[in-house]
Amino acid sequence: MPNLSERDKAVIWHPFTQMQTALPPTPIVRGSGSILYGADGREYLDMIASWWVNLHGHAHPHIAQRVSEQLQRLEHVIFADFTHEPAVELAERVLAILPQNQSKVFYSDNGSTAVEVALKMAFQYWHNLGRPRYKVVALDNAYHGDTFGAMAVGGRSAFTAPFFPFLFDVEYLPAPVAGQEEAVLQQAKQLFTDEVAAFIVEPLVQGSGGMIMYEPAVLNELYALARQNGTLIIADEVMTGFGRTGKRFASDYVPEKPDLMCLSKGLTGGTMALGVTTCTQAIYDAFLSSDKSKTLFHGHSFTANPVACTAALASMDLLLLDETQASIERIAAHHAAFSQRLRTYSTVANVRQRGTLLAFDLQVGEQTSYFNSIRDRAYHFLLERGVLMRPLGNVLYLMPPYCTTDEQLAYTYAQIEALLTSLS
Ligand SMILES: *Cc1c(COP(=O)(O)O)cnc(C)c1O
Repeated sequence: MPNLSERDKAVIWHPFTQMQTALPPTPIVRGSGSILYGADGREYLDMIASWWVNLHGHAHPHIAQRVSEQLQRLEHVIFADFTHEPAVELAERVLAILPQNQSKVFYSDNGSTAVEVALKMAFQYWHNLGRPRYKVVALDNAYHGDTFGAMAVGGRSAFTAPFFPFLFDVEYLPAPVAGQEEAVLQQAKQLFTDEVAAFIVEPLVQGSGGMIMYEPAVLNELYALARQNGTLIIADEVMTGFGRTGKRFASDYVPEKPDLMCLSKGLTGGTMALGVTTCTQAIYDAFLSSDKSKTLFHGHSFTANPVACTAALASMDLLLLDETQASIERIAAHHAAFSQRLRTYSTVANVRQRGTLLAFDLQVGEQTSYFNSIRDRAYHFLLERGVLMRPLGNVLYLMPPYCTTDEQLAYTYAQIEALLTSLS
C-alpha cells in the first residue's frame, strides 16, 4: 500500500505549488491549539494560522460542538426565498462589531468571492443610479484574491501574468508607507476623479504583497480624497479582520469609514469556508426598485451555509471573550519585545508590527523576490525545527493563533534567531 504522500502525488494538484519540484507534502492527522500533529509523530507550531484563517487554535471544542449540533439540525438550505437562524444571528452580530455605517450583509463562500461581490455592488451602484463609473483605484502589490475580478484589482505580478489580457484596467497608487505619504497623497489627488467607481484597499497591512504596513492617518486622508468625488471605499479586511491588527478590525483605527467591507478567513475561526460583504444603507438602497434589472444578480450554491454560519457564531463567542482580547495584547507585547531584538541583526531590515502581525525582511545580499532561494532555506530551516512559517519571498512574518502560549512564542522566536545566526 503506498503511503499518503504517494497517493497524494498520484491524484492531487496543490495550490500555489510547482508540482514538478515540490517536495512530498507533509501528512497532518490532527490539530490542537497552535499545534499540528504529523502522521510521523512530529509536531508543527502553526505560526501562520494555516494560511491566516485560524484564530482560536485547531479543532477548538466550542466550535466543534456547535458545528456538530448544527449539522444534525440543518446542514444546508437554499438562501433565495428562505432563511435560517444562524445566518440572521451572524449578520446581526457581525454588524454589531463593524463600523456603524455598515448596514447589510451579503454572504458568499470565501475571500475572493467577498471581493467580487463588493466590486459588483460598487459598479452596479453607479449603473443603477444612471451615472455609470468604470474606474477602480487600488494599491500597488495589493492582493484581493485569485478569481478574475479579484485578480484585476490586485497588483500585477508574475502570479497573474498569464491573465493580463483578461484583467480589467485599474489605476494604482503606491502603498503609503513611511516616508512616502506625501507623494502618494499628491498622486491620489490626480487619480481620484469623479470617474472612479471604487477605491479598494487592504487597510493598514497588505498581506500577500509582503506584509507591507502603513499608518491609519494617511489611509484616512486617502479615504477623504476618494470621498470628495463620491468614490466608494472598499475595505478588504479578509486578512486584517477579527483582531489580527490588535483592534477588532483595521478599520477601527481609521476615523473615515469604508462603504463596503469584505470578510472571510478568520470569520469562522478558520473552521469552514465563508465570505461576507457588507455595505451601507445608501448602497443597498440603490438596488431597491420595481425595475427588476436593478437587482444584484449574484449568488453561490452555498451562500450562507448554516454550518459555516454556526462556525462563525462559535468563533465570535470566543473572539468576544475578555481573555481572547487579553491574549491578542499579550502576543502583541511579546512581538514588540522581540522586534527590539530583531533590530540588532545585520541580516534583518524593516521590522514592522501591527497587533499580532510581526514581519521583517531578510537581507543577505541576494536578489529579493518570491522565487529566491533564501525563502526556501528559511522555510525548511524553521520547519525542521517544528515551526511552520511560510516566508513571502524574503519577508518572514508571524501570524499566530491567539491561543499560542508564551512558551510557544518563545520557542518560535528562538528558532528565528537561530536562523538569523545561521545566515550571518
Ligand atoms: C486571502 C485574501 C483574499 C482571498 O481570500 P480567499 O478565501 O483565499 O479567496 C482576499 N483578500 C485578502 C486581503 C486576502 O488576504
